[in-house]
Amino acid sequence: MTEYEAVIGLETHIQLNTTTKIFCSCKADSWFDPPNTNVCPVCTGLPGVLPVLNEKVVEKGALLAHAMHAELRPVSFFDRKNYFYPDLPKGYQISQYDMALAHGGYLDVPMPQGYTRRVGIWKLHLEEDAGKTRNERNQRLIDFNRCGVPLVEMVTGPDLRSADEAAQYLIRLRQLLRWLGVSEADMEKAHLRCDANVSIRPKGADYLNPKTEIKNVNSIDAVRNAINSEVERQIREVEAGRRVEAWTLDWDEDTGVLRKMRSKETEADYRYFREPDLLPVYLTDEWKAAILADFPELPLERRARFIEQYGLPEYDAEILTAERKLSDYYENAVKAYGGDPKKVSNWLMNDVLRMINERGLAPDQMKLSPAFLAEILKLVDAGTINNSTGKALLVKVEESGQSPAAIVQAEGLAKVSDDAAIRAACQEVLAENPKEVESFRGGKETLMGWFVGQVMRKMRGKADAALAKKILEELLG
Ligand code: ZN
Ligand code: MN
Repeated sequence: MTEYEAVIGLETHIQLNTTTKIFCSCKADSWFDPPNTNVCPVCTGLPGVLPVLNEKVVEKGALLAHAMHAELRPVSFFDRKNYFYPDLPKGYQISQYDMALAHGGYLDVPMPQGYTRRVGIWKLHLEEDAGKTRNERNQRLIDFNRCGVPLVEMVTGPDLRSADEAAQYLIRLRQLLRWLGVSEADMEKAHLRCDANVSIRPKGADYLNPKTEIKNVNSIDAVRNAINSEVERQIREVEAGRRVEAWTLDWDEDTGVLRKMRSKETEADYRYFREPDLLPVYLTDEWKAAILADFPELPLERRARFIEQYGLPEYDAEILTAERKLSDYYENAVKAYGGDPKKVSNWLMNDVLRMINERGLAPDQMKLSPAFLAEILKLVDAGTINNSTGKALLVKVEESGQSPAAIVQAEGLAKVSDDAAIRAACQEVLAENPKEVESFRGGKETLMGWFVGQVMRKMRGKADAALAKKILEELLG
């Protein structure tokens, strides 16, 4: 039996989050708008109009290229890619071909198993999107809103070896795009679309077999399912003595079926030539320096630094760097607190993150600022409030926007460490629960936690829990 390995490359189309389209001043994001409302003579391809390049598109493309370790070309060109389709009103797409914005590059993708896969970037260029067609009641309807929306097309080398590796690549790419602020990268809104090139070969071989291209694998699950299903199909073909043909396949996520669309076009079919209506793009060293001046620390670098600098477990570092604003929040809270960074991580991952998710907020929109979180931790450390009051304060601060210290004072939340008051509460609890006292004395020592809970309840959560436990032990002993 031959053992096979998959050879996978991904082509992604990334919608840049500029305000306007790539060659006109129409609004770029039409997700919530009715069809054909963000259009003009330029993006609907009327005769006699001239495209004008949106500089923001070049800036965002340059940031992404830099993050991919790609080299920006000092001079790049736009080209026409000719094909006929109803949603392409000009009959060609303005794209870049042999002299694109950037060339080379790679993305290092850490796999959950612990190894890192370096994925080469073969192509990275700017282009305009086409419109959308929809079939409804035996009619084909066309929406031109998406015409001229800026895209980066990025194609990897055949460097991925399984459906799971392909999924991880997309997960890391999506994280990076959001981190850089160049795309919302919402796959459900088609901001990040993916086609997969798949072939198989005997494990360890170094040649490439004919590949198929799977279109429309537009979710992480779809990438996993479609590729797995295509790899299995190719193995069945080869085992049956047949050849794998270079088909283009369509993946239907609902039914989990791959359908043959057409035999693949070759590049010659597109009759590329230079776009005569646009000037070459010149990137000066000064322009590059200005654009890259604030280039951020990237997520994987920050993850490594959090582990190193703050002694965080990999698990914490991964969650805290999932999103740039969250990792900024964490780091600001650590600085404001000055104590154990792991303690900040615990509070953030368990309680604050739950609030963020439940309330659908971005970390930088919280009234519970990093400084307020740090203040709560300091109040707990100083013994002014106990742990559970601290947790309750998170919500109160978020809802009122007041400082933790102000709320503690206004609501009298300071911890009661008064021995006599706690002793009185303990005595009451024991007197009210003779059966539990009997069980405890009979050996059911786990009841201690329950007794402490009752005392805390009596004292509206403000008792010093450690002191309450000590007094209870004494009284029950
Ligand atoms: Zn327009
Ligand atoms: Mn494309």
